[in-house]
Amino acid sequence: MALTERTLIERYFKNCGARRADVPLGVGDDAALLDTPPGMQLVAAMDTMVSGNHFLPHFPAASIGHRALAVNLSDIAAMGAVPAWALLALTLPKADETWLEGFASGLGALAQKHNVALVGGDTTAGPLCITVQVLGHAPRPPAMLRSGGRAGHLLFVSGTPGDAAAGLALELGQLTGASPNADAYLRQRFHFPTPRVELGQKLREYASACIDVSDGLLGDAGKLAEASGCGIAIAHEQLPVSEALASAAGDARARELTLTGGEGYELCFAVAPENVERMTRELPPQEWGYAPIGVLREAPGTVVTREGTVMDFSHSGWDHFSN
Ligand code: ADP
Ligand code: MG
Repeated sequence: MALTERTLIERYFKNCGARRADVPLGVGDDAALLDTPPGMQLVAAMDTMVSGNHFLPHFPAASIGHRALAVNLSDIAAMGAVPAWALLALTLPKADETWLEGFASGLGALAQKHNVALVGGDTTAGPLCITVQVLGHAPRPPAMLRSGGRAGHLLFVSGTPGDAAAGLALELGQLTGASPNADAYLRQRFHFPTPRVELGQKLREYASACIDVSDGLLGDAGKLAEASGCGIAIAHEQLPVSEALASAAGDARARELTLTGGEGYELCFAVAPENVERMTRELPPQEWGYAPIGVLREAPGTVVTREGTVMDFSHSGWDHFSN
């Protein structure tokens, strides 16, 4: 029996995510009402995921829900902001209750974790497509834009950004032969990426610039550098690679995936040299999970170095992974 649109919204989305005192009116009226704290700026991000493009329709519904929110939380994290509210525009070919249950549970669990309330949205029939908007709070003045880096600032990345790309490659059959443990771990990193929301807020104290890695470290670090009016040198041997990734893909391909693979939603950030010691003391890298990978420099463009020598992209083979 087909669900009516109203029942669908009430069942799956009316009580999805956190309850917040600053939502006097959420799902159910013509629009939501939200209380904004004085002295804060509103921060807004939105991302669309299209079936067949950003995910495949047979991927677990919980993963699709999780990722639709995670990509937005990652953008909010990169601003050093605090997420508060989300809106969901859902276009569905049919009201499949099992799928909706999974989708809402994946999205809702991540929203709960970050104290985000789902306050509204829209539901329409059509080819599967998901747009999520997240709103949150940013103290002013904003501390971490893409443009705040300067030549000489050190570059860091959180987590092990190649894992999710390897998980996707496993899903697509482009990577095979991983051990069962590595296989499960890498797929999990793709399906349920961890937006670095808390780290982003902490980094406001130390970082001069920040971007989230959604399209690949090389490209996204390049965007940060360009916005900062400089170039970037990434040290190939410093790239953080998980044991699972190294064992599944081998060292060379693991580093390629780390440089060029998207989907990881890690933070890439620049820190002025005088702040590095304090940051590593107050935010221990082993505890917070980040590593130095290079430096911003005057010369524009991006280079990857190995033991101090610039690597030649065209001979390194990593073009295979750019689409
Ligand atoms: P209207 O036609 O007035 O836009 P809708 O029927 O589209 O009303 O929506 C009714 C309520 O349900 C609104 O509060 C809207 O924000 C909310 N809503 C609709 N779809 C979703 C969804 N997918 N997720 C969360 N809230 C939704
Ligand atoms: Mg509507």
